[in-house]
Amino acid sequence: MSNKTFTMIKPDAFGKGHTGSILDLIVKAGFRIRAMKMTKLSTEKAGEFYAVHKQRPFYGELVEFMSSGPIVAAVLEKNNAVAEFRQLIGATDPAKADPGTIRKLFATSVGENSIHGSDSDENADIESKFFFSQLETY
Ligand code: UDP
Ligand code: MG
Repeated sequence: MSNKTFTMIKPDAFGKGHTGSILDLIVKAGFRIRAMKMTKLSTEKAGEFYAVHKQRPFYGELVEFMSSGPIVAAVLEKNNAVAEFRQLIGATDPAKADPGTIRKLFATSVGENSIHGSDSDENADIESKFFFSQLETY
């Protein structure tokens, strides 16, 4: 069990002006922000980030969506961070997400689901390093 996870506020949530509300929920849930930046992924970079899903039918749409507008990427710290954060964001499909979760509150579809959360300690580390150098992590 590690204490760090990685997140992105996705282009749908960013575009609708939900960034502040989502960060507030994250901080109030006890996560500490260790790194953060606003950026925009190229289709190449989005494709690289989601390479594990390359064979899935939604890959093209996902890459298109994730490069369609700005995102906010962050490294978060809390005990049992990966599992606790997945709990906070809710199920991939917002229709199946628990009440009060970020996806239930802000997401509109399984594709445009407002927020990313790492699914393992190993991927949290890989994804954090994809966006942040050691100098940008505190
Ligand atoms: N996704 C999609 N259609 C699907 C499943 C996933 O568009 O049927 C997108 C969605 O944005 C999701 C991302 O692909 O967040 C990664 O999928 P994953 O199964 O890893 O879900 P997550 O870990 O984000 O809950
Ligand atoms: Mg995933």
